[in-house]
Amino acid sequence: MWDIIGHEEAVAILERALRQGRLSHAYLLVGPVGIGKMPLALKLAQAVNCTSTGNEPPCGACGQCDRVARGLHPDVQVVRVPAGRGPDGKTWTVVPIERVREVVRDSSLKPFEGKFRIYIFDGIEGVSEEGANTLLKTLEEPPAQVIFVLLAAEPGRLLPTILSRCQRIELRPLPWPVLASELERRHGLDAHKATELARVSGGRPGIAIQMAAQPELAQALGEKLQTIERLVGAGVEERFAYASGLAGQFSRDRDGVRRELDLWKAWWRDVVLVGQGLSDSVVHLSRHDAIAATAKALTPAQASAALAAVFAALEHLDRNVSARLALEHMMLAIPRVR
Ligand SMILES: [Zn+2]
Repeated sequence: MWDIIGHEEAVAILERALRQGRLSHAYLLVGPVGIGKMPLALKLAQAVNCTSTGNEPPCGACGQCDRVARGLHPDVQVVRVPAGRGPDGKTWTVVPIERVREVVRDSSLKPFEGKFRIYIFDGIEGVSEEGANTLLKTLEEPPAQVIFVLLAAEPGRLLPTILSRCQRIELRPLPWPVLASELERRHGLDAHKATELARVSGGRPGIAIQMAAQPELAQALGEKLQTIERLVGAGVEERFAYASGLAGQFSRDRDGVRRELDLWKAWWRDVVLVGQGLSDSVVHLSRHDAIAATAKALTPAQASAALAAVFAALEHLDRNVSARLALEHMMLAIPRVR
């Protein structure tokens, strides 16, 4: 049982490859934060090492499946940018090159106890160019018993040479009703709460589950939306101060800034929808009044232009354009609503 929320297509691809013994040695799982890349990678790690004879792998019950689930399997390793500070006293922004070299070296060894060694790169964007080049040779001629699973939220930042050596699998946001019913079934949420979280999370199970468990996150979200509403009514000075703060944050927390822009995107999308009389599709139900007031004050073209400006900023950040420039540009392109 893969037992993954949504992503049937991705699961079907991996299941088929597993059944036919035609697994790729490098997968690139692409999708936004909280969409479910890591759960899928771990299920794959279970499936290839599962020893159950009676049940379809991953059975979830054998010793192999169990140790993967508990993070104790010696052949399944997660590689990511370390938390905390490096030897130079600065916070890590990339995976240390020694760690990448270690992976390359160890990948030539036989698995300790499973059938495959699995290296999951949680945020392959966090591997430096030097690291990527170190990895490249192994991706070109991978050892037989190794599978690399690279997780990426921003594939635009990856070297084309890395991209071309991986089988790419896209994970897309789940339709709200699908996610909502899963939240009801698996997490015991009532229908109203499940629908709200499915919408607010943008169809991302990881975000929805996190918010269900930590109500303070929902509160923080409400405050961020209020900030957006305030800035929509604010002048250039206030907007640039915000852009500057966000640009500063970007150097140490790219995902956080992307999440914030995702909120801007969802908010303006709501304005566009309400402007067209489609109030039922609104994501941020709790902010309906402010959204409706903005929709009334703007022409449909103005609202669409604001939404396009947020999309452009996200794209610029993906392409390593100066964060400050990208965000200031967005702030200038969004109409002021008094
Ligand atoms: Zn198993």
